Amino acid sequence: MYIEKNREIHLQRRPQGIPVAEDFKTVAAPIAELRDGEVLIKNRWMSVDPYMRGRMIERKSYIAPFALNEVLSGGAIGVVVESRNPAFPEGTKVYSMNGWREYFISCGKDLHSLPDSPIPEQAFLGILGMPGMTAYTGLNKIAGLKEGDNVFVSAASGAVGAIVCQIAKLKGCYVAGSVGSDDKARYLQEQLGVDAVVNYKTTESLQADIAKSCPAGIDVYFENVGGAHLEAVLNLMNDHGRIAVCGMIDQYNATEPRPGPANLGQIIIKKLRIEGFIVFEHWDGYPAFVQQMSQWIEQEKISWKETVYHGIEQAPEAFIGLFLGKNTGKMLVKLGDK
Ligand code: NDP
Repeated sequence: MYIEKNREIHLQRRPQGIPVAEDFKTVAAPIAELRDGEVLIKNRWMSVDPYMRGRMIERKSYIAPFALNEVLSGGAIGVVVESRNPAFPEGTKVYSMNGWREYFISCGKDLHSLPDSPIPEQAFLGILGMPGMTAYTGLNKIAGLKEGDNVFVSAASGAVGAIVCQIAKLKGCYVAGSVGSDDKARYLQEQLGVDAVVNYKTTESLQADIAKSCPAGIDVYFENVGGAHLEAVLNLMNDHGRIAVCGMIDQYNATEPRPGPANLGQIIIKKLRIEGFIVFEHWDGYPAFVQQMSQWIEQEKISWKETVYHGIEQAPEAFIGLFLGKNTGKMLVKLGDK
């Protein structure tokens, strides 16, 4: 099958500050005929994630930067529409890192078949995929979550944050978080049972409001934001508290180095343990995570939301939206038919 109408998204210049539409371009990229051993995948869903912003900067990091004028990459769910590889017959649903494009050809090495599951396929980009695994790993393995801990979560209504809140509630913890809108605060409290929520955009004093939201102090901080959040929380941590440093989205679009928290001495006074992590280094725990999370979903103990943009040409807007708080739960792009 020769595909003439495949489109893909390239980065045409490195963003300065919050990315804008002009940093990206949609490019036609016809797909050739298959050779033996190859399969043709039609992507149905693609993920946009905050970490991709870091890959748009030319620098050494835990993952290589995106090249200019080449197709971007990221998590995607697709279906095999033509196969010359018996391991992936037509109709197989697959996960790959070949997002930001409508079709691609693969020899199979970069594909993972999705298990048969009543859970919608795009959940493997969210609650059953990298964000869910991040929440689970950060809380259990990095922060050593214990029953009864007082937990605070920043970016609490996002793909990772909303799952962190629910896992901590399931463990019998007190849970508070911060978000950027009253609607998001209501969602967390009314639908997910979060005990208290701070709107960091309308607060007059972030530290005073976080203190009010956590009257017994904070034992575990799940850090997604950094900056003023980290400084405020350091002052409110309990002795021997643990901070899982997952992300610092407040810094991702900074055009100059930001000042660090002025109160790092709290780490000594409170005897804190602060640990950063990259979820992919913990992927050996993925099967156990999927088993546990699938069970919670089946038992209706955990739920999730998605914010969906439609069409490959909307992918840059969806990505930019992450930095403007446009999503509740997982930000996704639906490709192909609506
Ligand atoms: P989200 O779904 O949470 O989307 C981003 C959210 O962050 C937005 O909706 C917005 O919500 C909030 N936000 C954006 N800019 C700011 C800001 N300047 N200050 C405070 N909040 C902001 O994304 P994910 O759940 O996918 O990721 C959450 C964090 O986890 C990110 O920092 C990400 O980089 C990190 N991460 C780290 C991983 C790891 O392996 N260490 C793996 C996966 C994610 P609001 O309206 O509340 O502002």
